[in-house]
Amino acid sequence: MIVDRQGRRFRNLRVSLTAACNYACTYCVPNGKRLVAAQDELSADALVRGVAYLIEAAGIERLRITGGEPLISPKFDDFLSQVARLDLDDISLTSNGQLLSRKLPVLLDNGLRRLNVSLDTLDAERFRGIARGGDLATVLRGLDEAAAAGMKIKVNMVPLHGHNHDQVLPLLDYCLERGFELRFIELMRMGHLARDANGFQQQFFGLDDLLALIAERHTYVQASAPLDATAQRYEIPGRGFFGVIANESVPFCRTCSRLRLSSTGWLHGCLSSSNRHYIGDLLDKPRHEAFPALQRLLVRALGDKQEVAFSGGATIMKIIGG
Ligand code: SAM
Repeated sequence: MIVDRQGRRFRNLRVSLTAACNYACTYCVPNGKRLVAAQDELSADALVRGVAYLIEAAGIERLRITGGEPLISPKFDDFLSQVARLDLDDISLTSNGQLLSRKLPVLLDNGLRRLNVSLDTLDAERFRGIARGGDLATVLRGLDEAAAAGMKIKVNMVPLHGHNHDQVLPLLDYCLERGFELRFIELMRMGHLARDANGFQQQFFGLDDLLALIAERHTYVQASAPLDATAQRYEIPGRGFFGVIANESVPFCRTCSRLRLSSTGWLHGCLSSSNRHYIGDLLDKPRHEAFPALQRLLVRALGDKQEVAFSGGATIMKIIGG
């Protein structure tokens, strides 16, 4: 097992199946152009081998499939059915929900029961303005169907001052009524926002603002969360839970256990570091040849983690896998 001076190790792996996305969210991509798949993206088989090697070499226990938008990838069904057979405690999916209705049978058939769906507003026009792709009604229908099928659902919202912060309470009510857990994600200084301090500050709507707004309507108490959780968790007694991933306000680097594998075969030990480590070439090699090099790269990836706080990164989330 590879452990650093702070006792951190990799437990949670996020695999970005593709960098392509059917949205072009304002805070993720600056120019409104949707991202397409990189030409050198790995096959489903190679990515599955990557997951298997990382389970063994790094001690990965939990996998989240993400992107880009994972459900638009032609590799999705093949990848999921193969990783479902690996020795993992949990597999979950982060999606924007556009294709959720269509893909629900595949998710259920492969035992996937935990889903994070990104949704920044319940207002159809604002939705078009922020996501710049897809449509709200399709996401809401997918969420209803997934809930009816027994999926455990978290909704991810990035609150942006002046753009959708007035949607915090409506989205919270929407989630509480359906038994979904709403996760507010504080805006991160990623991609173009890493170079635009003013733009970042103008839009940032942090933990204190959020809690003050929620307190106008609800009484909440702090709830417990796993030691390496990234979210502050709160309970509204008798109604349900919500969380805040407060990377700026309450940094969680000290307990971070995440490792990311991009669709093109790069390992990222930290969202906030521009270092990355190529393992695509190792995945064609037999275990005894691949492992020594893989372990060296894992030590370097773990060394990329920030000591205390997230300070931003030039790479956009869709490339690394959010
Ligand atoms: N397409 C999928 C989705 O929409 O959930 C998965 C990939 S997306 C990059 C994962 C999450 O990252 C989304 O919830 C998105 O809102 C979030 N995200 C992207 N850029 C962000 C930023 N700069 N700050 C905070 N969250 C961001």
